[in-house]
Amino acid sequence: MTQPKKQLVVFDFDWSLADQDTDRWIFEVLAPDIRRKMKTLKEEIQWTDLIAQSLREAHARSITKEQITHALEIMPFHPAMTRAVTSLKARGGTTFLCLSNSNSTFISTILKHKKLEDLFDEIITNPAEWDPSGLLNLKRRVDPDGPQHSCHVGCSPNMCKGEELDAFLSRKGISFDHIAYVGDGSNDFCPILRLRSQDTIFCRTYRGLQKRIEKEGASAGLKCNVKYWGGAWELEEYFAAL
Ligand SMILES: [Mg+2]
Ligand SMILES: [Zn+2]
Repeated sequence: MTQPKKQLVVFDFDWSLADQDTDRWIFEVLAPDIRRKMKTLKEEIQWTDLIAQSLREAHARSITKEQITHALEIMPFHPAMTRAVTSLKARGGTTFLCLSNSNSTFISTILKHKKLEDLFDEIITNPAEWDPSGLLNLKRRVDPDGPQHSCHVGCSPNMCKGEELDAFLSRKGISFDHIAYVGDGSNDFCPILRLRSQDTIFCRTYRGLQKRIEKEGASAGLKCNVKYWGGAWELEEYFAAL
C-alpha cells in the first residue's frame, strides 16, 4: 500500500492568503495621514518598528481596538482562497504553516473572522498583544536587543523567513514529500531558496517576489518549480491538483 503524501503548504499572509496588506490597510481605513507618514518614513525606520509607532500614534488619538478589529474584518479576503485552503485541508495529508511579517493579532483576528482559526499548525510572525488601555503592542519577531539573524538575502531585521522555515522543518522532524509556498513579496525570496526541485512556489504576479525570481532566481540557485497566479480563483485551481 502506498503511504499518503506528506505535504507542507507555507503561506505568506499579506497579498497571499489575504487580498490586501494588513499593516497598510488599517491606516488607510482609519487614519490616512498616518498611512502617508508611513510611506514617507519607511526608508528611515525599520518596518515593524514603524507600524508599532503608528499604532501608538493611532491609540493616542483614541482609535480603538474595536475600530482596528473591524477594519481587519472588512479587509479584502477572496472567497476562492477560503475554498482553496478549506478543501485542501479537508482532504488530509497537508500541514499548513503561516510565515508572515504582519503580526499575531492582525492574523488571528482575520482567521477567526473567516472561521479559519484551525487552519495553521503554526503561525510564525511578529508578536502583538492588546494592553488593557486598547493599545496594540507590537514587537519584532527577532528582539533588536538580542542576537540578530544572519540572513544575506535581504530579509528585514525583524525576521528571516528562510531561517524560520528551516527551524520549523527541523522542529517538526517530518520529511515532507512536497512543500508548496504561496507568496508575493521580495521577503519571500529567501525562504524559497531553501525549497527542493520537487517543491513549488506559487508566486503572485506583478509584485516583489516575481521581480526577484526573474532577476535573481537563476543566479541564486532557485531549484523549485515556479507557478504564477493573479487571483485566488487561480490558486484554487492549482490547489485542487495538489
Ligand atoms: Mg505578502
Ligand atoms: Zn532571509
